[in-house]
Amino acid sequence: EGLLPFEHEPYHTFQDEAVAARQRDAFRAVREAYAGRTFPLIIAGQDAQGDGTFAVRNPADTRETLWHFQNATPAQLQQAVAAAQDAFLEWRRTDPLQRASIFKRAAELLRARRMEFNAVMTLENGKNWAEADGEVAESVDHFEVFARETLRWAQGKAVYPMPDEHVTTVYEPLGVVACISPWNFPSAIPLGMALGALAAGNTVLWKPAGETPLSSYLMVELLFEAGLPRGAVQFLTGTDDVLGDPLVDHPGVRMIAFTGSKEIGCRIYERAARVQPGQRWLKRVIAEMGGKDPTVVCADADIEAAATGIVQAAFGYSGQKCSACSRVIAEDSVYDDLLARVTEKTRALKVGLPEENAAIGPVIHQGSAERIAQFVEAGRTTARLVLGGDTPDTGERVGGYVSPTLFADVDPADPLFQQEIFGPVLTFTRARDWQHAIELANDSEYGLTAAFYSRDPHKIAVARRDMHVGNLYINRKCTGALSGTHAFGGYGMSGTNAKVGGPDYLFWFLQTKTVAQRY
Ligand code: GLU
Repeated sequence: EGLLPFEHEPYHTFQDEAVAARQRDAFRAVREAYAGRTFPLIIAGQDAQGDGTFAVRNPADTRETLWHFQNATPAQLQQAVAAAQDAFLEWRRTDPLQRASIFKRAAELLRARRMEFNAVMTLENGKNWAEADGEVAESVDHFEVFARETLRWAQGKAVYPMPDEHVTTVYEPLGVVACISPWNFPSAIPLGMALGALAAGNTVLWKPAGETPLSSYLMVELLFEAGLPRGAVQFLTGTDDVLGDPLVDHPGVRMIAFTGSKEIGCRIYERAARVQPGQRWLKRVIAEMGGKDPTVVCADADIEAAATGIVQAAFGYSGQKCSACSRVIAEDSVYDDLLARVTEKTRALKVGLPEENAAIGPVIHQGSAERIAQFVEAGRTTARLVLGGDTPDTGERVGGYVSPTLFADVDPADPLFQQEIFGPVLTFTRARDWQHAIELANDSEYGLTAAFYSRDPHKIAVARRDMHVGNLYINRKCTGALSGTHAFGGYGMSGTNAKVGGPDYLFWFLQTKTVAQRY
């Protein structure tokens, strides 16, 4: 109670030249402090060298090597699991108020270093300033939210009483949680999963994506600085043959928290189901996977607002979000008007360097750009290409640059409509009426986010009831969930619907103990 009220961390206003100058300074400072350095693993609270290192490159120009990280060995994976099991014995018994204090302190520390964290992220994964800033602000929110959640869940829950028994329902942690995270939100996603685990009293194996390890390393060190016992998180980087299946299969791992592709999520879910020799539990898995997120625009909607929301949600960070809008479904009577407005706004987005805060930067890899290009090539024959579809001229730079691309008149059976592309590609599909539009929106194996634009209370009520997604946004864009407010996670093949940042998230990291006592 003492920690309330809560306010979301405000964003920086980079239009203000003084603020922009601070962000530019942070790029200089980050290069000065970190460029060319080699960072360690952290096992049992100690820095460790692995078996060789790998280079992290700037996706905006892959000729630039940023820094290096370790390849953990199989023996180090064993040590890390043992250390996490060891640390669990103490961390599980810490006072929840102590955990909350650590997270509150971490929030303060991160607030003071936001520009630095922004810059590291931009260099590692190509987010522009605003996107990086939004994510680091979300990370501050996570600290504040999980500080409160750890106290709330420590209270247990009331049960129906009995006259002759004293009965309590309390929550206890599980053990060692492996947190496996993607490159697209290298700060907020691993942090959300790790804080879920730690707030509940578990210890963590923190495995960042190979593209973005420094964003994670600095966050882990910040947690230690805030007072987290150094054994509570093991920081592991390296190759899939050591930290992929073997990490998931390890009999000492109690739970896996994963965010990433559907393909890997399904693989983890399946492998974790097998009880390994010596394993004394059924592993728990939470997996947040892909999306093919629709925006439905009804004839009565504010078309200009819809166009703005669509362009932001489709092309922010080049569409490399599982929450990104990738399908527009509009009623026939407004379809052409909406398409024209979205086309005009999309044309205005300039491709350039994320470090210079360009609207559109590179996608994460050249390989990823090639995969996106295959979808676009196929789409040329099955749909109407309205904009983009080419590779922008970025001069000398080597990187996976893709122009924002619009396809119109896309058939619901087309792969463009069904498959997650994870790039700046947006489809338009015409609906006979608004009910048909909802049907088309639901025609997907995914069910993560959706936006619905209408002013009609009846249509809105039907959308609220019938749209098959975990996050439905009415008259606003479908990206940018805020921790503590917009519990995030989807239906269907979007994953296990664990809802990070929501009121029930910690339950996934806990087990429930009922104690009935007679006197
Ligand atoms: N939570 C983010 C959002 O609401 C998306 C996370 C993701 O793409 O994995 O935009």
